[in-house]
Amino acid sequence: MTQKSEAIKGNITQEMKDVAKQENIEVDKLARLIADGKVVIPKNVNSHAKACGIGEELSTKINANIGSSSKIDDLELEINKAKLAVEYGADAIMDLSTGSDLKLFRQKIMDAIDVIIGTVPIYEAGVVTLSKGKEIVDMDPDDIFKAIENQAREGVDFMTLHCGITKDLVSKLEKQKRMMGIVSRGGTFMASWIKHNKMENPLYENYDYLLELSYEYDITLSLGDGLRPGCLADASDIPQIQELVNLGGLVKRAQDADVQVMVEGPGHMPMNQIKANMEIQKTICHGAPFYVLGPLVTDLAPGYDHITSAIGGAIAASSGANFLCYVTPAEHLSLPSLEDVKEGVIASKIAAEAADVARGLPQSWMRERQMAKARKEFDWEKQFDLAFDKSKPRTYRDKCELDDDEMCAMCGEYCAVKIAKGDF
Ligand code: SF4
Repeated sequence: MTQKSEAIKGNITQEMKDVAKQENIEVDKLARLIADGKVVIPKNVNSHAKACGIGEELSTKINANIGSSSKIDDLELEINKAKLAVEYGADAIMDLSTGSDLKLFRQKIMDAIDVIIGTVPIYEAGVVTLSKGKEIVDMDPDDIFKAIENQAREGVDFMTLHCGITKDLVSKLEKQKRMMGIVSRGGTFMASWIKHNKMENPLYENYDYLLELSYEYDITLSLGDGLRPGCLADASDIPQIQELVNLGGLVKRAQDADVQVMVEGPGHMPMNQIKANMEIQKTICHGAPFYVLGPLVTDLAPGYDHITSAIGGAIAASSGANFLCYVTPAEHLSLPSLEDVKEGVIASKIAAEAADVARGLPQSWMRERQMAKARKEFDWEKQFDLAFDKSKPRTYRDKCELDDDEMCAMCGEYCAVKIAKGDF
């Protein structure tokens, strides 16, 4: 059973009711969007997460990645990052761990938070392979499916699976002169495996089995963009579009099997290409929700990539993307710290809200009007309460050290809002 199969039968699930209430949308309309594959509610049958809808007509959602690496393997720190990300508004957490004891790691994170959880199971298969003293290219396809099945049983809600990188695509990629080659970790695992073994991608070849597993546990497939551009110079190139065409075919097969599916997208991309990319994705992928990793609109800002990604994310989400993966200031440089996670989530919240305002979502406009009213009335507490970051604005306000509540230290007694108050 999946949310999609129930929606097709006309059965309204508790999750649909919850999402309809959160989003202020009629539940029958929501069910139609789910039945059509335009909205997903990632919720594994074994999951205890609260329901979250992603897709057309719903507010833009954001994901925060956490997880250990082979260099930094601190369970408590990653759990604290997950909690902090949720506190600042992340709708989903992806556990991208590649350190030790991945099962325990996932379980602890699932116990610590109540938002939906995503993973990239091929990472676990890679870790298992390396632990046997082998190389990634020696990965046993059975280990990939074992990781998927184990994680499905544990209650993972959505999984990034790089099903669209085919043998044919890998051979074409070799002839393509890309600046950055492949920058997706899962994409590289898969492409290198295909090249080394001269065999077809097991996730592509056994896609029907993957659909069976996904249906059984209601895993939402997040079809990975293994060939996403890793720099502006590679944006919208032939490998990216060819993989997207493959993903479109796989989306159709998932939708026909009543499996919930969304599609991942770029990457690094000049601003002027983002809107067209979103439209092409929606057309090729049959309206499936689009989950974008950025896009980062310049490559010249390491240390500030939460900003480059928020600019791209705002354009993407106002042009059709539904789910934004956060980027932190540590992107391309290091595993993020707690402060980096907070900065990344807030940057993504800004992008999502900017897009939702542009899309005319009533809840966003209500919050924007409330903030304007609070500013006009010098209601500082209300302003702090409405802000994505409730502590930073208070710190700035406190620094003013003013007795008069009806101004700030920016203009002092020449405060335009105070002077105009009552007149305009
Ligand atoms: S003093 Fe200037 S910046 Fe501060 S609230 Fe008034 S108009 Fe705004």
